[in-house]
Amino acid sequence: MAVTVPLLINGEWVESRSTVWRDVVNPATQEVLARVPFATAEEVAQAVSSAQRAFKTWRKTPIGQRARIFLKLQQLIRENMADLAATLTAEQGKTLVDAEGDVFRGLEVVEHAANIGTLQMGEFAQNVAGGVDTYTVLQPLGVCAGITPFNFPAMIPLWMFPMAIACGNTFVLKPSEQDPLVTVKLAKLALAAGIPPGVLNVVHGGEDVVNALCDHPDIKAISFVGSSKVGTHVYQRATLAGKRAQCMMGAKNHAVVLPDANKEQTLNQLLGAGFGAAGQRCMAASVAVLVGEAQLWLPELTEKAKRLRIGAGKDNPDLGPVVSCAAKERILGLIARGVEEGATLALDGRDVKVDGYPNGNFVGPTILADVKPGMAVYEQEIFGPVLIVVPAATLDEAIALVNANPNGNGTALFTQSGAAARKFQEEIDVGQVGINVPIPVPVPLFSFTGSRASKLGDLGPYGKQVVLFYTQTQTITQRWFDDLASVGQVNTTISLK
Ligand code: NAD
Repeated sequence: MAVTVPLLINGEWVESRSTVWRDVVNPATQEVLARVPFATAEEVAQAVSSAQRAFKTWRKTPIGQRARIFLKLQQLIRENMADLAATLTAEQGKTLVDAEGDVFRGLEVVEHAANIGTLQMGEFAQNVAGGVDTYTVLQPLGVCAGITPFNFPAMIPLWMFPMAIACGNTFVLKPSEQDPLVTVKLAKLALAAGIPPGVLNVVHGGEDVVNALCDHPDIKAISFVGSSKVGTHVYQRATLAGKRAQCMMGAKNHAVVLPDANKEQTLNQLLGAGFGAAGQRCMAASVAVLVGEAQLWLPELTEKAKRLRIGAGKDNPDLGPVVSCAAKERILGLIARGVEEGATLALDGRDVKVDGYPNGNFVGPTILADVKPGMAVYEQEIFGPVLIVVPAATLDEAIALVNANPNGNGTALFTQSGAAARKFQEEIDVGQVGINVPIPVPVPLFSFTGSRASKLGDLGPYGKQVVLFYTQTQTITQRWFDDLASVGQVNTTISLK
């Protein structure tokens, strides 16, 4: 019998009483690693009420004391990096080095949470009227919740609970039911770092648990990362219930290649960003737009893609399996549909075999060329190792193509021309832009700023913006009468006198 994944309620790891469970499966072998429960309504309610109780004291815990927990947590994450990465690779499939990258990009947010003090400062203005001062404080909201996807089971939970908790909130986290094991290990390290009982809670499940979090009157804010369909539902349901919500969602990221770009570097970057993590990144470069003469680079791109090694993540190939059999079926179905709709299959990874892993969900690098808007492979997020190639005659045509696509998570331009780069940056309607950088995910000194259909809500999931998301501004206008000033008249006007 596989081990069971516990819930974290009020500082205790507890076995769920649920009757509904699913297997956590190694995508390279189909080995069942653990069984995860779909928490009952009562368990979700217990997690929220423990967070609600803990908020009473946590909100008054000194900023330095809160921040020092994250100083300790970042140290524990570093010490446990190899174990965290191995767990992540086993349950998610990505290569070990990329799994370390997943943990590391989350670790950067933990480091940022350890510096929260300066970000949570308010403002002060003296003498806004005679003897009157105004100041603001950024107060925590209360209980906040996070719902995370399968593709970054370390980084994305770490986008959420450290900043929320460092701001003085308490938290209920709902990891992806497909790969909850590394998230649970991170929560264990967070408790070891000193997070008090009830401040961080973890519940597992799917639709019902997510809906319960959206509806619960004691939850003040929800941060969601996942698909556009579910994110739109979460945003509508949570905001209807009066909560703040931020939903970071699906994408179709275009990498535009001008013929003056450095060919060797550009092709390598396209392959790394298109096929790394088996294409299962929200910021993957999934559409290559080859402009003018750069269209002649397709054969070389294809030759290089053929040389990428596919295997089990633990053996550190270039790409591992996709997360599940269902994901593989979906990807193969979309490739077939692309061919039916007239795309050219420049590289076919559908029949890839990996020695020693006959049951893995492997899909080899696949390139579909001559793709046009309107085809399913262009309109839908494939979320697999499939790079689609769209030709464009000019930079203007490429910009128009990107701007006509509803998504706005990321885009990149490859060029040696500063003028072309500047024009692209200014005219492109996408929230995160890379110039010769294929996956422009900002470090936490900045915020993640996907836009348009890739995002609902105004503020990003980390950086300065998330401090505003996880706090409310209280503005205090104060006057301290001295003896002389108190001898006044009744003021019946709106003016401060
Ligand atoms: P998903 O939407 O299927 O799942 C995300 C979360 O929602 C999970 O915790 C899941 O349990 C829950 N969920 C699933 N179905 C639900 C339903 N019907 N009702 C309520 N909750 C439900 O996403 P995924 O497949 O785990 O992740 C991949 C998606 O996430 C891709 O679309 C990718 O682009 C997106 N993503 C976006 C970003 C970003 O920052 N924009 C980052 C990573 C991933």
